[in-house]
Amino acid sequence: MKKEMAAQIKTFEAKYGQTPHLVLILVGENPGSMTYVTNKAKAADEVGIKHTTIKKPETITQQELIDIIESLNADKNVDGILVQLPLPEHIDADEVIAAINKDKDVDGFHPFNVAALWQKHSFARTCTPKGIIKMLKSAGIEIAGKEAVVMGRSNIVGLPVAKMLLDENATVTVVHSHTKNLPDITRRADILIVAIGKPKFVTADMIKPGAVVIDVGVTRDQDTGKLSGDVDFDACEPIAGVITKVPGGVGPMTITCLLENTIESFQRKVSE
Ligand code: NAP
Repeated sequence: MKKEMAAQIKTFEAKYGQTPHLVLILVGENPGSMTYVTNKAKAADEVGIKHTTIKKPETITQQELIDIIESLNADKNVDGILVQLPLPEHIDADEVIAAINKDKDVDGFHPFNVAALWQKHSFARTCTPKGIIKMLKSAGIEIAGKEAVVMGRSNIVGLPVAKMLLDENATVTVVHSHTKNLPDITRRADILIVAIGKPKFVTADMIKPGAVVIDVGVTRDQDTGKLSGDVDFDACEPIAGVITKVPGGVGPMTITCLLENTIESFQRKVSE
């Protein structure tokens, strides 16, 4: 995908005299957020997307943050705006996200884009679920008619990926922290998507032999600094048909889909 995007972006300068521009907003000094923003900027460099990172202290007020977003909304040279989450507690993240122009919401978190997904009119689909579906398709995995189980029901992963799997005609079950007899349900899954944020929670006895297992979880071990997924990879890998790794797999796909959303936003602008 990145190679194709890089080739496509090279043609933009000649055609339109400009290239896509992504603005990343980082509030505070959360180490995880700082790494995510750096990785997104690096990936943008790889494909030739112009990027700017706006860093603001933890003490910024909600209104100051919204003022920045509004000036970016009005700037014709900005195609994508991403506010790295989480935000400090005194800021209402929902209000901040809602302040982003829906056409520049490359994360797909704006209420308009969320509603659009549920009405099948989406154009900026949330990056992690979009990346998961792309990964399944590019690996030639048939989704239609399959039994898919999604672990987790967050707005950024569980719910949108469940909807996208439904749109691909899977039979979808969503499980969460109140679900009873969890392994009985997960063992039914032809496709198991795990997004709960509990390192190595999914063990070999919880998956069906031959299942497709997509591990979304990313937890950093406080002592070693190592990243862990929600799936016990070493135990599950011999049983699964296909399985993704952490780090790797879903994380890089999420960033690649962010780049794709930025290009799509640029293309909508230049075609207006
Ligand atoms: P979240 O908002 O904390 O949601 C976690 C979900 O897991 C909740 O729905 C919760 O159920 C459910 N859950 C928790 N414990 C459970 C259990 N024992 N059994 C079944 N369900 C359980 O998390 P999130 O934002 O979706 O993120 C999930 C993980 O994915 C995190 O590790 C995050 O870092 C990672 N992530 C990775 C990427 C990437 O690009 N790779 C992107 C986004 C997120 P309730 O609703 O009942 O509380």
